[in-house]
Amino acid sequence: MADQRELVIVSLYPRDMNIYGDRGNLLALTRRARAHGFEPRVVELNVGDELPEHVDIVIGGGGQDSGQGRVSADLVGRAGEFRELADAGTPMLVICGLYQLFGHRFVTASGATLEGIGLLDVETRGGEDRMIGNVVVESADFGEIIGYENHSGNTVLGPGSEPLGRVIQGAGNNPTDGAEGARTGNVLGSYLHGALLPKNPAISDFLIATAATRRYGSFKPLAGADATADRARAAAKRRPR
Ligand code: GLN
Repeated sequence: MADQRELVIVSLYPRDMNIYGDRGNLLALTRRARAHGFEPRVVELNVGDELPEHVDIVIGGGGQDSGQGRVSADLVGRAGEFRELADAGTPMLVICGLYQLFGHRFVTASGATLEGIGLLDVETRGGEDRMIGNVVVESADFGEIIGYENHSGNTVLGPGSEPLGRVIQGAGNNPTDGAEGARTGNVLGSYLHGALLPKNPAISDFLIATAATRRYGSFKPLAGADATADRARAAAKRRPR
């Protein structure tokens, strides 16, 4: 069948949430999926659009507070659909502005509250100082992760999420606790632009391996069984909680 190896990738709010090269994540992911023998089908979901019937991977980028303001009500309106996808183990990666909105809420520096959908047990408060610069993170699941951060939101994790990794250089979630990003089940949030995926193929492989295992029962990398793919498969085996 022609569509036997299809993977449906939902690109979340590309019109409003796409900053510091986050679109590069979509390009890297589709390219990597093809290298592994899949046919990625990208569905762009902007405010008011409908989710496709079947979703294999969700990715979304960052944006300024104004962009977050434009999408937050629409996202909250879909909280149930995304909760269902997450509970079913659908892999997702959200960066910066959408990372904040995948948490419980983002209270901006001017005091406005943008509700989130709570797929990640995190909460964010806008601060006075921006955290800007290159970041190096050590992650148990993905090895060394590198990227670039630019945000004023300070994010704190609750017990329902674990950090994506520990910061070696840069700030990450906030300037004090040394954690960067969050993971609950197969939902990943991170402050790292970069864009992240072109620089960290282990995370692309995690998304693809998890999606392929869910949809087709297994994942066999065709692009050469390199170490990143092995690590991604090991991470994909972890059960969502
Ligand atoms: N507005 C948010 C902050 O500054 C997100 C910024 C971003 O997505 N780069 O914290």
